[in-house]
Amino acid sequence: MSTDFHLACALLPDGWTDNVRLCVGPDGTITALATREDPRPDDTRLGTVLPGMANLHSHAFQRAMAGLSERRGPGTDSFWSWRDVMYRFLDRLDPDAVEAIAAMVQVEMLEAGFTTVGEFHYLHHTPDGSPHDDPGEMAARICTAAETTGIAVTLLPVFYRWSGFNMAPATLGQRRFVCDPDQYSTLVERARHHARSLPHVRVGIAPHSLRAASIDDITAILPLAEEGPVHIHIAEQIAEVEACRDATGHRPVRWLLDRQPVDERWCLVHATHMAADEIRDLAASGAVAGLCPLTEASLGDGLFPAVDFLAAGGRFGIGSDSHIRIDLAEELRLLEYGQRLTRRERNVLSAPGVSTGRHLFDAACEGGAQATGQPTGRIAVGHRADLVELDERHPVLTGRTGDSRLDSWLFAGDGRQVRSVHVGGMARVMDGQSTCREMVSRRYEKTLQTIMADWTA
Ligand SMILES: [Zn+2]
Repeated sequence: MSTDFHLACALLPDGWTDNVRLCVGPDGTITALATREDPRPDDTRLGTVLPGMANLHSHAFQRAMAGLSERRGPGTDSFWSWRDVMYRFLDRLDPDAVEAIAAMVQVEMLEAGFTTVGEFHYLHHTPDGSPHDDPGEMAARICTAAETTGIAVTLLPVFYRWSGFNMAPATLGQRRFVCDPDQYSTLVERARHHARSLPHVRVGIAPHSLRAASIDDITAILPLAEEGPVHIHIAEQIAEVEACRDATGHRPVRWLLDRQPVDERWCLVHATHMAADEIRDLAASGAVAGLCPLTEASLGDGLFPAVDFLAAGGRFGIGSDSHIRIDLAEELRLLEYGQRLTRRERNVLSAPGVSTGRHLFDAACEGGAQATGQPTGRIAVGHRADLVELDERHPVLTGRTGDSRLDSWLFAGDGRQVRSVHVGGMARVMDGQSTCREMVSRRYEKTLQTIMADWTA
């Protein structure tokens, strides 16, 4: 059965267009698009509609520990002290908990206006480090969560082998992540198996970082990506850049670009600390920089060199990573505000005369679709009908037309201006709320009560 939509006003690839009719096929793809059309009686009628954006970087379980590492320790707190809390927290998580948290995260993403998630999942094994009976159990749970919430998902099972450059053995805290290339191959195969239960899914691979995967490891596992995306954390922390330089004589982005076939299939997550040649060559590679501004701020990572990277033609998308907040508008706002604060200028990341909101939104939609390998981010024939309807009656959007809608939403708003969300033509958010929020949040609450029962700061 196909569904038809009438959009009073939609952001199409060539701009804002009134009275758009879409025909959506049974697989959720837009099969026909006409403009200047009146609604027909059976059409699903929507108001102001944007294309759905992919959230390209998520570690779902970290949402449940948001706010638990905001107490200063005895020394200087950093990414590494946050990571200690994270390791302690994940020791409490079993597959049921992972599924409950992932579903909650996906509900929050949908309500924020994200329609796809790239789930970079590294919590593979049981608490003692032995594999589950099904080594792909955790991938299965993420798929089950997506079946419940309706979000499109790109599974990125993580390859994690070492605790540092020079192949330092993994630590006790990392025992739930660790695989050799053979075990990893089984994991990816199981992830593909479970993914078959979902309508809107891709599978890629994710060497965790150059700390956790050597260049030779990456070469060994690369064929497992098949046509899917390849994601890696890189150059997030100064200490990591220095350790890489000590071990290899090179900075991490340089080391990767010179030794792997980095191209459009790749997503380099963070890439915060780059020298001029790395910025230039990463941009030229066609890979996406996976930016997570709220997490990068929360963890004290540093500021991505957005001005130079965009000037070199670099592509980027947005991820909410640790999920300290899940808010599409706030991520893009912080990306721009970081530049404003350091440069003491305004409207830094757009060209003269161009709406900053529109410019950032378009780029993040394109980059997110590319990095997740999903046919999303555009309202066009052949793309999935991922539609985000804004509430034009909300005070933040009152009286706004054209690109000023995006400027007002992204710079003055948040998830509260998202009225409805369709993924592949299926309604997943109505009146601002996920259609399964109640059930998912009840289960999440029960799960968290157990996890937090004897948690000490
Ligand atoms: Zn991450």
